[in-house]
Amino acid sequence: MDIFEKITSLAKRRGFIYQGSEIYGGLAGTWDYGPLGAELKRNIKNEYWKTMVQLRDDVVGIDAAIIMNPKVWEASGHTESFADPLSECKKCHHRFRADNIIPEELFTSENFKIADYKCPDCGGELTEPKRFSTLVETYLGVIEGEKLKTYLRGEITQGVHVNFKNVLSSSRVKIPFGVAQIGKAFRNEITPGDLTFRSREFEQMELQFYVKPEDEESMKWFEFWKEARRQWYLSLGMRAENLQFKKHVKLAHYAKAAFDIEYHARDEWWEMEGIHHRGTWDLSRHEQFSKQDLTYFDEETKERYTPMVIETSGGVDRATLFFLMDAYREEEVKEGDVRTVLKLHPKLAPMKAAVFPLLANKPELVAKARSVYEDLKKDWMIAWDERGNIGKRYRSQDEAGTPYCITVDFETLENETVTIRDRDTMEQKRVKISDIHDFIRSKLV
Ligand code: ATP
Repeated sequence: MDIFEKITSLAKRRGFIYQGSEIYGGLAGTWDYGPLGAELKRNIKNEYWKTMVQLRDDVVGIDAAIIMNPKVWEASGHTESFADPLSECKKCHHRFRADNIIPEELFTSENFKIADYKCPDCGGELTEPKRFSTLVETYLGVIEGEKLKTYLRGEITQGVHVNFKNVLSSSRVKIPFGVAQIGKAFRNEITPGDLTFRSREFEQMELQFYVKPEDEESMKWFEFWKEARRQWYLSLGMRAENLQFKKHVKLAHYAKAAFDIEYHARDEWWEMEGIHHRGTWDLSRHEQFSKQDLTYFDEETKERYTPMVIETSGGVDRATLFFLMDAYREEEVKEGDVRTVLKLHPKLAPMKAAVFPLLANKPELVAKARSVYEDLKKDWMIAWDERGNIGKRYRSQDEAGTPYCITVDFETLENETVTIRDRDTMEQKRVKISDIHDFIRSKLV
């Protein structure tokens, strides 16, 4: 089994990720997060918000609507060009994104001939690539004929730019400053797949950072955010050898630079987050289409200008998937005895600890363990398990990524201490019940 298959199986078995609408045969490109997955994803979003908003004086957060005035998408260029090229195999009728099977630089060159390429599945002839809009349409209103056609947002970016003036006038931000957002986006992907990697409904976490429209100043911030975003993944335990930057060769006409942070899996590199220099494109387009003044007045230099934008745009679902893959290990504990363990950073782990009574049939142990559990639960997500033997419970928590297992045994009843077993080293130590809070807290900084 390759890593995608292993994660798919673990994700379903342990309640991280399920196929969307599974009992009805599913719906391509949609996924549901189970009890552990919802916690993991929430922790990733919380860490993002903490790093990008809470700890920074120059970034504020917003939460914009998913459905926007359709003019937004004209201004952003999405109605005109948010389209992917689709080719179909004339023999097996499988569909492909042409730019996924043909290198982009060839695909856009004048000498390109589709006849030079064959279907990757059966070797059949491919149809000429045709562009299809990936915007998901929706209709508002109840009366037929009067319904307003609009879209479920294809990216969360525009919600920030249309609020540029609101944020300026309602908070005390000064350039350089950023606006961060986390939220759902929708795309009619031609070929959804590879678990949540390419979904039709997904979540993005983004920063739009406004800077002076000067090349040197804007590139300084571009480099800053490019590295800051890589560091964020590393700080949450992602292995450096699984990350790389990929430079975009073909840039949008307004862009000065663009890189992707890619993750390595199954001998391939996968886009996880984009760092884009968007020039003054977004604000000037919205100014043109909305006829509102979206310039910025710089009190210091007494200049008025349209700021440039440095964007960092990551996928929450892709980050969740790659954090899972990166943490996944099969370790031989003894000969022939392999444990599956998710070595997730404690900050991301769905459960911060699990509490067990050593024996489920000793009411005094259960009552004591229960009181430890109830107390810790006030601060963190904590698991409870009294099934089977301790060894099995440890293995079950290893697979769920729980970093610490706390066991209440007979010694606890004598001296108010418990054992804490470390997921990664499998070592146990005795800790006073009154010190458990500090112990867990020390692992979450
Ligand atoms: P791709 O080339 O893989 O289609 P993109 O370049 O179109 O991605 P962006 O528009 O830059 O992606 O979106 C920013 C981020 O949003 C991506 O880096 C990715 O993490 C996430 N993302 C984009 N499309 C999807 C999708 N269909 N499913 C899950 N995440 C996505």
